[in-house]
Amino acid sequence: MSKVALITSIAGQDGSYLAELLLKKGYIVHGINRHYPLLNTDYPDLNYQEGYETNPDFTFHYGDWCDVASLCRLLDEICPDEIYNLGAVTHPFTSSDSAEYAGTLDGIATLDMLEAIRCLGLEQKTRYYQASPSELCGLINGMQACEMSDFTPRHTNTVGKIYDYWTTVNYRETFGMYACNGILFNHESPRRSAAFVTRKITRALANITQGLERCLYLGNLDAQRDWGHARDYAKMQWMMLQQVEPEDFVIATGVKYSVRQFVTFAALELGIKLRFEGKGLYERGVIAAIISPIAAALKVGDVVVGVDPRFIRHDETEKLAADPTKARQKLGWVPETSLQDLVIEMVQADLAAAKQKARL
Ligand code: GDP
Repeated sequence: MSKVALITSIAGQDGSYLAELLLKKGYIVHGINRHYPLLNTDYPDLNYQEGYETNPDFTFHYGDWCDVASLCRLLDEICPDEIYNLGAVTHPFTSSDSAEYAGTLDGIATLDMLEAIRCLGLEQKTRYYQASPSELCGLINGMQACEMSDFTPRHTNTVGKIYDYWTTVNYRETFGMYACNGILFNHESPRRSAAFVTRKITRALANITQGLERCLYLGNLDAQRDWGHARDYAKMQWMMLQQVEPEDFVIATGVKYSVRQFVTFAALELGIKLRFEGKGLYERGVIAAIISPIAAALKVGDVVVGVDPRFIRHDETEKLAADPTKARQKLGWVPETSLQDLVIEMVQADLAAAKQKARL
């Protein structure tokens, strides 16, 4: 018999990769999202939605998992073997603008989900995965976080995530539920929203080569992140629920790069060799050489990267990195995609989209 999985926030980057993985493994997949993915035209959900609609093993549920009554009805109906709770207000700007909503979604909703599992008598059947963000370790600044690190949140939504984290641990220890936390460091892909820096960079630079934009404006170019591929991290989320005993894991590549390095790699993939000049707000990325016909419309000396103070955060986490040793040793976790391959995949996807836009 096929296993049944429920994924919250199915329309996001992580939900869509996880759904694809589980469908390939023969699961029946149910996904919930607060908004109908078809409305999100800036994101490839459209294709996925169409793909899933024709797939009898996938069901999309429009709704909000904060709505306890409908959540209980759904759990009662599908009796999932595995729940992946990926729903969150992830972006710091969004979470500080709607702090109360972020607190509800990132705190109480997890308690409701775990309590619903228990009330329906599913606690021995349903395995539960809680997505926890790297910002739990926001203030450790540069030191490598691991499963034993203290939580030092930097944003409102992350405070709610600490509640999620400990609620998950508590339901595991108190009620014997198979419940675990994955603390995932930054993970990117062509499906990442452009609210995040990697996708903002690949999309803008691709647009610049096609004459759709002139300059990419960023905030802190010195910020460092440990960036992995979301597809690899989806696999890891599944692996966590296949262990004999539930445990919490940190997921990361163990290597960090700066925003400036990411820009440099993405530009190179588009045939642009960049030179950075100036400091702080006056730093600029200038074209030092054109090394491929992709960027033929540009010229040496063009300024294609600048700094805009609007993108500098007052509550910046300058460096985020982690040590994935436990995941490697216990789960055999090795990220399959290097940063260079991630950059290539993102740039190529955005270049194809930019070329299409330029033709219109
Ligand atoms: P986060 O680690 O979850 O905050 O992921 P982001 O991709 O939003 O940000 C990663 C880092 O890039 C942070 O340190 C940001 O301050 C830095 N950054 C620099 N410029 C930008 C920008 O224009 N947009 C975003 N989102 N981040 C930027």
